[in-house]
Amino acid sequence: MSYDSNNVFAKILRGEIPCKKVHEDDFALAFHDIAPQAKIHVLVIPKGAYVSSADFFGTASDAEIAGFCRAVAKVAKDLGVEEAGYRILANHGADSGQEVPHFHIHVFGGQRLGRLITPN
Ligand code: AMP
Repeated sequence: MSYDSNNVFAKILRGEIPCKKVHEDDFALAFHDIAPQAKIHVLVIPKGAYVSSADFFGTASDAEIAGFCRAVAKVAKDLGVEEAGYRILANHGADSGQEVPHFHIHVFGGQRLGRLITPN
């Protein structure tokens, strides 16, 4: 799948639509999910144009991957959920229900998170 530069996260990165930012550095932007599914639900996205986890982990540079992973860890720490625990999740493709075709990690926390996968 090729990258669609009109996806909503690309627009957020370009500043064309607003977000509730929690962190930004050279590699990543983090902001609150618009429809939170936990008390804390933050999205971390790479600055580069990657469709999904397969695209990012398979083709991004080592510096981008390291910088992005460190940003995820920093966001969780800054949100205050490191000690109590949190969950990170990335959807890839149709079966996962990925809605936005710009790679992103969900960070969930602030409550007990229950089962890993909820049966349909
Ligand atoms: P996924 O299903 O993994 O692609 O997750 C996409 C997430 O992006 C969903 O949890 C949406 O609620 C969230 N989302 C969509 N549009 C926005 C937006 N403008 N600002 C913040 N989060 C958004």
